[in-house]
This record gives sequence, C-alpha cells and structure tokens, in this order.
Amino acid sequence: MNAVCTSNISPRAAEKPSLLSIVCPAFNEQEAILDFHRAVRRVLQSSGQNFEIILVNDGSTDGTARLMKDLCARHPDTAFVDLSRNFGKEIAITAGLDHAKGEAVVVMDADLQHPPESIGALIEGWREGYDVVNAVRRNRNGENALKRMTARAFYRALRRLGRVAPPEDVGDFRLLSRKAVDAVVTLREHHRFMKGVFAWVGFPTTSIAFDVAPRIAGRTKFDFWKLWNFSIEGVTSHTLAPLKASTYLGLAVAGLSFASGLVYVVKALLFGDPSPGFPTVIVTVSFLGGVQLIVLGVIGEYLGRVFNETKNRPLYFVNELVEARGANCAEAPANTPAREVA
Ligand code: UDP
Ligand code: MG
Repeated sequence: MNAVCTSNISPRAAEKPSLLSIVCPAFNEQEAILDFHRAVRRVLQSSGQNFEIILVNDGSTDGTARLMKDLCARHPDTAFVDLSRNFGKEIAITAGLDHAKGEAVVVMDADLQHPPESIGALIEGWREGYDVVNAVRRNRNGENALKRMTARAFYRALRRLGRVAPPEDVGDFRLLSRKAVDAVVTLREHHRFMKGVFAWVGFPTTSIAFDVAPRIAGRTKFDFWKLWNFSIEGVTSHTLAPLKASTYLGLAVAGLSFASGLVYVVKALLFGDPSPGFPTVIVTVSFLGGVQLIVLGVIGEYLGRVFNETKNRPLYFVNELVEARGANCAEAPANTPAREVA
C-alpha cells in the first residue's frame, strides 16, 4: 500500500464497513452487466461483507435498463438508478454516489476492467483509517499504445498545470469513506471531471495497485473525439493555466511584433526601403489573426462553461429509482417515484 497523505490516520475500529456500496455507471453495457453483477456479488458474498450494488443506467439505448431492473427484482441488495438520458460517465458516477448509503463506497466500471478481487485491498486501506483509497493501474491492458501515451501525457500536463492534480494512472476505480463521499457530493458543478473532484476534496489518501483486465464484452464508449472533449473538460475544470498562457502568448507575440517593427524602421533608415514587403505583411497579419482566434477560443471555452454553470440546472434527472432493500442492506423503501435531484 502506498500512502499519499498520512496525516492524522488512526485505524478504524471495525474490520469492515458496516455497509459497502458499489457504484457502477453503465451506458449500453447489456453484454457486460450480468457478468459484472455476478462477479462482484460472488466476491463480496464470499468475504462476508454487507453490501449494496448501485447500478446507474446512463441513458442506455440497448437492453441495459431492462437487465438492471431484472437484477434488482431478483437481488434485494441491488439498486437501480435510471437516469432520464445519457448524461455522461462523470454525472452517472455522481448520481450513484448521491444514492449510496454505505459507510464506504467503491466506484467501478461495468466492463470488469476493474477486478472485483481488488475490493478486499481497498477495504484494507479503509480499515487502516484512510478516507480515499485509489486503485493505481499497473498496466493498461486492452488499450492501444496511442491511448496509453496520450493518457500519460495528459495526466502529466494536468499535474504541472494545477495545484491539486489527479494522481497518474488512477481512473475512477477507488474507495471513498462516507466522509469523502459526503464531501464529493457537495460539489455540483456541471463541467465535472471526477478524477479532479476526487483529488480536490483531499482527505487522507492511499493507493493500491491493480492489473487492468481487458473489457469482458462490448466496446469502449470513449472514442478519440470523446476523449479529446474529456481532456478539455479535465483541463478547464481543473486549472486557469490556459487563460494565463494566452496572456503570455499575447505578450510574447506583441513583443516580437514590436521588435521586428524596430528592425524594419532601423533597416529603412539605414538602407532605405527597396522592397514593399508584401509577403511579410501577409504572413504577419495572418499569424496575428491566428493567435487572436486561438486565444479567443480559449477564453470562449471558459466563458461557455461559466454560462452553463450560471444556469444552475439540476445535474441530472432520475427516471426511475429502485433502492436496495435486502436484509444485508440499510432499511430503504423500494420503488421510489421519479424525482429531481439538484
Ligand atoms: N459510461 C457511462 N456513460 C457514458 C460512457 C460510459 O456510464 O456516457 C460507463 C461505461 O458503461 C463503463 C464506464 O463508464 O461502465 C467506463 O466506460 P468504458 O469502459 O467505455 O471506458 P474505457 O474503460 O474504455 O476508458
Ligand atoms: Mg472500460
């Protein structure tokens, strides 16, 4: 175990959390969800852990919702949060955290890339007194070299740019104590990057290592374009550095233009001005135009986010909610009608 922050740690009195919530966001996972549910239950049952599994359907267009509802009907330890449309993984995780009742909560993907066998090690970190136990990827099985390289570069850049950066090679697979979950769910920004949010709330943190398994079935939901947008979200919700960089870029270009202007004046004074300098003008003007557009684009990215946040809309709507109601779980009413969650 690799402690990141060790201040004020004292081991918890209990061996295990009284209730462990597993939060699983899923979008079009009909091929994987049954295997996921079976594997997680098997591991948790054999460890004698009280648990609830919260399946969040993030607006799937395949049979995922129906399968989840069936699972809930058959297993009282399983809850179903059906979002009114696809809100994206970050918001689906938040919806799951909002509905989790556990003393500790583990966030896991539906495709079994996060091995349920690692839950025991996560709980061990909780027992030692940590509030956040990150699962660090030892490898990135099932991801091509380009994705691995860009992911690494992205997290390196984030760490350089921001004050509290997400740790490298940590995805959303992690355990959060009740204290950490209560903190995370108070952050209601729309443009959310959960890895950044988890890092921002702080609390004593440690990590365990795990091997990423290949996706059990189905396909990744993150194509190149989605990943690109996700990384813009990651940067803009995490740091103002691009705005500052724009200012410095502007200053640098202005300084360069001023210096080259001086050179032209001196040259003209010393040697006259034999050529009209047409290409220089075109190149300079288009270069400056390009720089201005880029800087405006960066400002626009932030302004658009300010616009969206000021609308202050609820993060998501729940179409249907079936809470866990099993003997092992906290008392909860079944089949609560649809409601709005701010
Ligand atoms: N997911 C989601 N909403 C989305 C996209 C993905 O809830 O809009 C879920 C998906 O079903 C899976 C998890 O997020 O449980 C991770 O997605 P995926 O495995 O496609 O990502 P990768 O592991 O390839 O990065
Ligand atoms: Mg995956």
